[in-house]
Amino acid sequence: MERTFLMIKPDAVQRNLIGEVVSRIENKGLKLVAAKLFQANEELAKEHYSEHVEKPFFNGLVDFITSGPVFAMVVEGNNVVEVTRTLVGETNPAKAAPGTIRGDYGVDLGRNIIHGSDSNESAKREIGLWFNDAELNDYKLNNEAWVYEK
Ligand code: UDP
Repeated sequence: MERTFLMIKPDAVQRNLIGEVVSRIENKGLKLVAAKLFQANEELAKEHYSEHVEKPFFNGLVDFITSGPVFAMVVEGNNVVEVTRTLVGETNPAKAAPGTIRGDYGVDLGRNIIHGSDSNESAKREIGLWFNDAELNDYKLNNEAWVYEK
C-alpha cells in the first residue's frame, strides 16, 4: 500500500465542494489516513510548489493557495498515486475529462479544485510538509478484500 497527498484547494472549499470531492475518494475504495481544514502560510505554499518557483504563475499560485483554508488529506491504497491522478484529471479543467474531479467541477487552470501528488517521491515530501506523524492514522479498513484482489 502506498500513500499520497491530496489537497482540496481554496476555490473548492469556498464552493462547498469538500463533501463531493471526499465522497469520490471514499467511493473509489481508497482509505483516508489523515484530513484537516488548514490555512497554509506563504512559507508552506512556496515550499509545496517549490518546483515551480521560476514559473510566471508561481506568485499567483501562492496567493491563491494561501487565500483561504484548504482541505488537506493523506490517502492510502494500492497504486494510489496513479489511481488518484486519474480521479483528479488533467491539470487544465477545460481539458480534463468529464467524470474526473477537475473535469466535473472546474473551468480555469488557476482554479482547478484539487492537488494530487504526481509520484511516490513527491507524495512522501508533501505528506511530510503538511502533516506530522501523530496526525497519520494507521488502521485497517475491513472492506479491503472487496476493493483489492490481492
Ligand atoms: N498552474 C497555474 N497556471 C499554469 C500552470 C499551473 O495556475 O499555467 C497551477 C495549477 O493550480 C496547477 C499547479 O499550478 O495545479 C501545479 O501545476 P502542475 O503542472 O504541477 O499540475 P498538477 O500536478 O497540479 O496537475
